[in-house]
This record gives sequence, structure tokens and C-alpha cells, in this order.
Amino acid sequence: MPQLQFHQVSKSYGDVVALDNVSFEAKDGELLVLVGPSGCGKSTTLRLIAGLEEFEAGSICIDGKEINHLPPKDRDIAMVFQNYALYPHMSVRQNLGFGLKMKKTPPSEIKQRVEQTAEALGIQDLLDRKPGQLSGGQKQRVAVGRAMIRKPAVFLFDEPLSNLDAKLRVTLRDELASLHQRLNATILYVTHDQVEAMTLGDRIAVMKDGEIQQIGTPQEIYHKPSNVFVSGFIGNPAMNLLKPDVLNINSEADQIGIRPEHLTVTNATSSPITATIQSIQNTGSDCFLTASRGDQRLIVRTSSTANASIDDEIGLQWDAHNLHFFDTTGQRICNV
Ligand code: ADP
Repeated sequence: MPQLQFHQVSKSYGDVVALDNVSFEAKDGELLVLVGPSGCGKSTTLRLIAGLEEFEAGSICIDGKEINHLPPKDRDIAMVFQNYALYPHMSVRQNLGFGLKMKKTPPSEIKQRVEQTAEALGIQDLLDRKPGQLSGGQKQRVAVGRAMIRKPAVFLFDEPLSNLDAKLRVTLRDELASLHQRLNATILYVTHDQVEAMTLGDRIAVMKDGEIQQIGTPQEIYHKPSNVFVSGFIGNPAMNLLKPDVLNINSEADQIGIRPEHLTVTNATSSPITATIQSIQNTGSDCFLTASRGDQRLIVRTSSTANASIDDEIGLQWDAHNLHFFDTTGQRICNV
């Protein structure tokens, strides 16, 4: 039985359809990431599960029991917010123990669980500080601890890393990944960041305009995007989308996709196609060439030691199994 089930849910704000018949499930112990551009309905999904808003149609179940008629406090979920939402006047110890205190948990048990949680998150030394005396990363660890200590059936994470600087985001992302493995917790994690989605998710649900475009493992989403939107959203730089004739391919497909790392630079005379280098971006480990062929541009990933100059004519080749074919409506064409 899935631990969290979101079944045919629709939600509108006046004329704006925020969610249009959305369904997904998170299995017991799974970290499911909802990813998509701003406004696609991610936060609405979390708010409905948390019970912060009503909706028109569908149902939400935890462990097979419908929870959408229960008040938020009875839903057995814990939410971690982007802005931490800690109580500023309470110490870290009091912030962590607050939920248990409200449930009239005996003080000795609160003390023990606060200490266990602090240890799991490496924040033992911060227990007597107030949130104002913590860095952003420390605040977010406390916020995660406050959710963890309650041992909820389902955790909801709403862009928890977006207020942190890039380096700390990567550190905390790794910490969350290992915490998830240790706790084996069921987590629904919302982000607009596709790298976060790819690195954290057991599975990913890609959303756009209130609809789920594709659900799958990071590998499935990356290697078999079900439509042009997913192909462009997951992967950086984005997949090249080209008319078949640009690749000298005879195909009924409207567009052919190929990822920058699947194009190989070769000698211009012996290649299926040639292109002209327009710009070169060297990141240290990789080099990205933007090349033009007719009026289309494509990006090629190559090694940073590649010897390339602007206006060079290069040859390009690829393995046919790395091509993605899409029809006029942008849907993936299978079996070509
Ligand atoms: P995301 O979290 O993916 O950025 P949201 O779930 O916040 O997206 O929003 C989905 C859609 O619903 C957007 O078009 C947004 O403008 C709209 N929306 C969200 N909350 C409200 C609200 N309280 N009132 C009106 N429209 C809203």
C-alpha cells in the first residue's frame, strides 16, 4: 500500500486552475520530488496535503485512510518550510521539543528525543541558542529536526534549501539524502531546482501548469523524457531540440532531441554534419561549445582541454540510441 496517495485532485483559485486532476503516490520510505517551474502547482499540492486549504475534487490518503477531512493537527505529517518558521523567542531545545510538549509528552522523554534528534543532525552544541544566533544552514537543520522529532508518517519539504547559498545547499542536500536513507522516511519534497530533484529523488514528478508531465526515477526521466517540456527542463544545459534535417536525418518526427554530452566533436570532413562554433564556455571540468548549423544552434559538451576556437568548423557525430524523437504535439515517439 502506498503511504501517501494523491488521487485525482483538482484545485482552483477563482479562474486559475492550480491543479488539474493530479494523481501520484509515494511509497513507504520513498523520497518523491515534485519539480517544475514557478506557478506549476507544487506548493498548492503540499498545502492541500498539510490541510492548509480546501479543494474541489479528489482525495488524499495516508496509509490507505482518507485524511482530507481531518484538521491539520490530526494528519500525522510534518512540514519543513523554506523560511524555517522557527519560533524566534524559543531556544533550539524548546523549538525542537515544542510539538511534543503540546502533545503532553513526559518531560524526560522530550529531553531524550531532543538530544537524539540533535545528535542525528549534528546540532548538539546549538541547543541553548535562539534562532537569531544561528546561520541559515543551522536554522534549516533545526527546522528538519523539529519535523523529525515527531516521527510523522509523511514529511513535506517545501523548497527547504532555496534560502541558502550555493555551497551550503550542496552540503545540506547531501545531509538530507543520507538522513533519508537512515530514517527510511516517506518524504514529499518540492523544488524548482532540477539538480536537487535528480540528486535527491528516488522518483521525480515533473509538473507544469497544474499537471504532472511525467513520474519516474531520475534515470527514466533523464533518458526517456516523455515530452519536449520534460526533455528541456531536466538536464543542464538543456537537451538540444532540432529539426530532423539539421541532423541530416530522414524522420517523421517534428523534432529530434540530443543531449550536449551525446554529441562528439570529430574531424569536419568525415562527420554526418558540420557546424560553426559561436561561443565557448569553459567551466574547468567541462567545455560547452555553442555551434550553429543554418539558423539552428546546438550545444556540445566536450572536455575542457578541447582545442577549439570561435568560427572553427567542427564535425559532429552521435550514437543513434541517444536520439529522442518528438511529434508535432511534443510527445515522445516510441519505437523509432
Ligand atoms: P508553485 O509552488 O509551483 O510555484 P503554486 O502552487 O504556488 O505554484 O501556484 C499554482 C498556481 O496557483 C499559480 O498560478 C498561482 O498563481 C496560483 N495561486 C497559488 N496560490 C494562490 C492564491 N492564494 N490565490 C490565487 N492564486 C493562487
